[in-house]
Amino acid sequence: MQAKCQQNDSQGRHRWPDLIGIVIATSLLFAIGAPAIYRSQNYVKTIKCTNQLRQVGVALHVVSINDPKERFCTGAYDYRRDGCPDEIGWVSDIMDLGAFEEPVLCPNTKSRGGVTLNDLIGVQGQPVEPLLPEEQYGQLSVGRCEPFLHGGVDPESAKDDLLPPGSAARRDHVADILKANYNTTYVPSWFLTRWSIRTDYDREGNLIVSKEGPVTDRRGSTGPVRRRDLETSTISSNATPWVCDGSTSAKKDRRLIADLSETLSAGDPLSATQTGGPVYWNADRKVFIPLMPGTVLVPANRKDEKLKPFCLDELPDEENPGDGGMDQKLWLQDTRQWAAEHYGGSEAKQVGVILMADGSAKTISDVDGDGRLNPGFQVGEESKSGYASDTVELTLKVAWSGPCIPSSIPYKGTFE
Ligand SMILES: [Zn+2]
Repeated sequence: MQAKCQQNDSQGRHRWPDLIGIVIATSLLFAIGAPAIYRSQNYVKTIKCTNQLRQVGVALHVVSINDPKERFCTGAYDYRRDGCPDEIGWVSDIMDLGAFEEPVLCPNTKSRGGVTLNDLIGVQGQPVEPLLPEEQYGQLSVGRCEPFLHGGVDPESAKDDLLPPGSAARRDHVADILKANYNTTYVPSWFLTRWSIRTDYDREGNLIVSKEGPVTDRRGSTGPVRRRDLETSTISSNATPWVCDGSTSAKKDRRLIADLSETLSAGDPLSATQTGGPVYWNADRKVFIPLMPGTVLVPANRKDEKLKPFCLDELPDEENPGDGGMDQKLWLQDTRQWAAEHYGGSEAKQVGVILMADGSAKTISDVDGDGRLNPGFQVGEESKSGYASDTVELTLKVAWSGPCIPSSIPYKGTFE
């Protein structure tokens, strides 16, 4: 026994040079090998996300085939704007096809789910105000949200046992929605969920944005895109962006407000419910301004130019900063709700992956490394804007980011 130990000792001493060799080899492995493994793991995530987005694209096309109105979805994953997300919105639309066994979550993103979870849970003492046309308030009380008390319920006729915002019982229902896989970290484009601006004419004959409500909800938009909209679109479907990873934000209103499940805890970052629709950058005030109800799109005295005064500003590209035209405001789609945080391969910077309306998925380089894809907002280096620079990353060649799809607004309006 003793001899054996001695033998081992002596073997140990003889191993010293080998050990040094191992240490050197290990250091080399960490210097060269480990980052390579790390990179390849990240690249696998990019590929998984891309494939998942393509599957989402196929599913949305199937939804459109099944829908009598040919809609590609029934709206956003957004309780207040569209309705209870276990029955309404693109997530339930594709989950109910049975095409996905798990919720559609990006394997790379920091986001843990959709920010509508906060609306579903609610805050004690604060009514959850619907952002739907009044005749559609019922959509907030379907599926697992049936017993939820919300601002659209008439207090006179409300049943006593409705679950108020912030209650534990209500949270349990939200947890059940998650258990049934109705969650996502992805963010649809305004084109997918709203498609077009609802318009009207004012007394002077100007074409205006409908005064019914904001263009980001059903009151101020025409609703989810339909097959016939794509077929008659003046923008090719392979340049019409539909879904991308959701960005996260340190802002309190983008953090989960309560513990919901083993994987979702209070404070977790959440994705927006859709992109922000048409906005312009106000360089003086250093803020983005959304398209407000009642805004003049085409003045009566320029009606011969059809939609050009608003829809067809000269959009920016790599060489040209664009021109805001009539109002000298460069209206573009707000894309700050999207993330470009995927590893793009050894040479490329981080990239964003966008599902297009034709079902393809495009990989777009985040040139300035801010994790966003700027469609051409001239924000300078104003970090508060959400974009780190005015480098145009989402170019016209890749994806249309104009304020509207020109063919989507019937110029001789139906509202006349
Ligand atoms: Zn992703």
